[in-house]
Amino acid sequence: MIDVINLKKSFGETEVLKDISVTINKGDIVVVLGPSGSGKSTFLRCLNCMEDPTGGSIIFNGVDIADIKVDINIHRRHMGMVFQHFNLFNNKTVIQNIMLAPVYVKCQELRKNKRKNIKIRIKNLFSKQKEELIPITTSKAEIQKEAKEQAMNLLKRIGLEDKADVYPSTLSGGQKQRVAIVRSLAMNPDVILFDEPTSALDPEMVGEVLDLMKALAKEGMTMIIVTHEMGFAKEVANRILFMDEGYILESGSPKEFFEHPKSDRAKEFLSKVL
Ligand code: ATP
Ligand code: MG
Repeated sequence: MIDVINLKKSFGETEVLKDISVTINKGDIVVVLGPSGSGKSTFLRCLNCMEDPTGGSIIFNGVDIADIKVDINIHRRHMGMVFQHFNLFNNKTVIQNIMLAPVYVKCQELRKNKRKNIKIRIKNLFSKQKEELIPITTSKAEIQKEAKEQAMNLLKRIGLEDKADVYPSTLSGGQKQRVAIVRSLAMNPDVILFDEPTSALDPEMVGEVLDLMKALAKEGMTMIIVTHEMGFAKEVANRILFMDEGYILESGSPKEFFEHPKSDRAKEFLSKVL
């Protein structure tokens, strides 16, 4: 699903990602570990082109999204991202947060198709060969209604349907993060990237977020997760990537990595976190 080939990223003189190559397959649960500053967040941010890579390719569903000629917005929709600090829109209610992106994208599509149809109609006036019009069945109100139903179902899934109309500031950290996760689900992503999704939470709220992530993993969602939750990594990941100084030093099953780390850097890292 994602082929990262010789990915590099520098900020000015600082080379942060030096040469990253890795393949992510559908259904993979990849946990990225590594010391602070090793480039884990930068790697995730490059994957969905929140940062422009300095070199290399990221082939996502057959398209090199690192290529500046590619319209990244079209492809980024298929990649969810969940952040440490939730990044909910505080001036929108919970349900508005979840509906915003799907409604925006579908309305954009509707407008595009309407414009196309106008062009086709004009073309058809002058040409003998008539082009088919695009069926435009949904109105903006219908798009809104559908998105609202979907958002309510997502909120039911996490037991927060009664919070639909409140603002994020009234939620606990665990509730905010669960809303952020289902918000990313509302776009039906092919993959979700998580950057330390539980690091900003009080300890008693970590479990509810990890449980939701485990449920997604069971359903076959492809996920790439930067986390310090070693128990979760051992239990849920099918692959561990260990990053150090801008390289992937080790890539293997949790059993291989936790029981038989190869590099001294990984051994040292594990001695500190286990
Ligand atoms: P942590 O575990 O602390 O979150 P990390 O592995 O996620 O660390 P990154 O945030 O990817 O590490 O940062 C890697 C290096 O890149 C750091 O030295 C950081 O200072 C540098 N860096 C990251 N973003 C920028 C930026 N926008 N401009 C300049 N340097 C940056
Ligand atoms: Mg980070």
